[in-house]
Amino acid sequence: MLIFTDLDGSLLDHDGYSYEGARPALERIRRLSVPLVFVTSKTRAEVERLQEAMGLREPFVAENGGGIFFPAEYGNFRIPGGVERGGRTLIRLGRPYPEIRRFVEERKARFGIRGAGDLSVEDLVEMTGLSPEEAYLAKQREFTEPFLLDDDSALAALGREALAAGLKITRGGRFHHLIGAGQDKGEAVKRTLLIVRDNLGGEVLSIGIGDRPNDIPMLAAVDIPVLIPHPDGRYEGIDLPNLVKATCPGSRGWNEAVGGILDRFGKT
Ligand SMILES: [Mg+2]
Repeated sequence: MLIFTDLDGSLLDHDGYSYEGARPALERIRRLSVPLVFVTSKTRAEVERLQEAMGLREPFVAENGGGIFFPAEYGNFRIPGGVERGGRTLIRLGRPYPEIRRFVEERKARFGIRGAGDLSVEDLVEMTGLSPEEAYLAKQREFTEPFLLDDDSALAALGREALAAGLKITRGGRFHHLIGAGQDKGEAVKRTLLIVRDNLGGEVLSIGIGDRPNDIPMLAAVDIPVLIPHPDGRYEGIDLPNLVKATCPGSRGWNEAVGGILDRFGKT
């Protein structure tokens, strides 16, 4: 069993970013040695800090599938296409950040774009409720650009220009994200599963947990997709085989859904 999870709004509460409500299921997963793979729009620096706080040393997917990072603990894995990056093995699926910034710079005025690269740490703190240190880590970008538009009605036109430039737009909890046309959370999950299956030589039951449109490709790529409701209780409108709908938002919904799946497979 392998669990892929979105962070903000799924494992972490939308407001406050706490995973307190998921502690019982997290404890079970740890006891059962089920790998927990974060698949997030957060940066590598943000994920490293969270993994450290949680005592996790597992692969993770940063920046909406821009990069898959395997830790040194997976040093005996064959990872085709992997390159060394900061003590981890990186599979890059995204585009270089400077290229994405150039795209934003050239259209900033015309489309009324405010990208993460245009925002100060103080701006980000105000907009997201992150601490200044967390906001600093969120600005350490490698593959993608979160952004807001003055007027969302320009989104379709911007999306067309993005596609022409080899990019695309996806939507998370707070921001739109400019990402490489060939990347998303689903591609990263498929690639990770291939590598794990190749190296372990067996079948893996995959679970994927998310709450927003940028999670849908991930949910479509796993055996058991789990949909977490938004803070107002509504769900993204998707229909997938085996879909599990958590009954409450954030970490408490995560806890309940994962606990239920572990029960169903007799993993106590
Ligand atoms: Mg989310």
